[in-house]
Amino acid sequence: MLPIGAPKIYGIFGYPVHHSLSPLMQNAAFRASKVPALYIPFEIPPEALGPALRGLIALGIRGINITLPHKERAVFSMDRLTPEAQRAGAVNTVKIERGELIGHNTDGDGFLLSLRRDLKMDPKGKVAAVIGAGGAAKGVAVALLTHGVDQLFLYNRSRNRLAHLVYHLKKTFPSRKNSIFSQVIGSKKISDLKGIDLLIQATSAGMEGKMCLIEPSALHKGMRAYETIYYPKETPFLRMARQKGIPRANGMGMLLYQGALAFEWWTGKKAPVSVMKQVLKKVP
Ligand code: NDP
Repeated sequence: MLPIGAPKIYGIFGYPVHHSLSPLMQNAAFRASKVPALYIPFEIPPEALGPALRGLIALGIRGINITLPHKERAVFSMDRLTPEAQRAGAVNTVKIERGELIGHNTDGDGFLLSLRRDLKMDPKGKVAAVIGAGGAAKGVAVALLTHGVDQLFLYNRSRNRLAHLVYHLKKTFPSRKNSIFSQVIGSKKISDLKGIDLLIQATSAGMEGKMCLIEPSALHKGMRAYETIYYPKETPFLRMARQKGIPRANGMGMLLYQGALAFEWWTGKKAPVSVMKQVLKKVP
């Protein structure tokens, strides 16, 4: 049901965007918090991103989330960036204020909240490995380095994207240069993860429910496993972790908390996290 009066408009830009659970989650949050607002998905092709972002000001839209494939390019259309967006080199949340576009990023802190609440783990002093070098891997890696991970190992199928990620991280965290290690895996599986406390699967392999990039023998009882994918709820990576008895979590928590943080930044109100969580839980 539409909110009565003149609702404030929020939304999400993606391409495609029909799969996004954010409209469901954010509209439930607005209703529960009695904020007269409406959150709408906008399918924006890459060539229309710049004009669409500038158009937000004329339309009086209050805030927008940005998802695939726009997060990195959106940086160039912002008038200002928060420190989180600067560190991430990507924008996932935009606020329109006094005719300006302010770019922010809640992915990293969303991941961190999920890590703390769903896996009861703080990255400080830990050894972590991230598989992937796309937007999700970058957000996770930035959050881990910001919050004091001791060593960070990065794995990716292709060389270029991995090199780009390593360059960004070393430039953003110059004092941590010697704590960042990387390896191209090509078509091979990762077979050695000795000493890793936290393993994060941040590639899209596994979305179809078939593929895992790790040899089962590489998983060990001392680690925790985090999967950034939230659908399917159990990927091959998480199935393997379950079979090995390893504490694990899927990306639903990251989705939830990045959304809750965006809601709070836009509205200045505490996000109704339990309502948002319930709505996501009901998704089949
Ligand atoms: P990108 O397209 O930016 O990156 C994809 C990554 O997956 C690259 O590292 C790519 O490797 C790798 N990859 C894809 N297919 C394969 C394969 N078959 N074998 C090996 N590596 C593969 O995507 P994102 O980083 O944005 O998203 C990654 C995943 O994270 C998605 O499944 C997405 O749903 C999830 N995600 C979850 C979020 C949450 O809130 N829970 C937020 C954002 C993303 P290469 O460089 O070699 O192509």
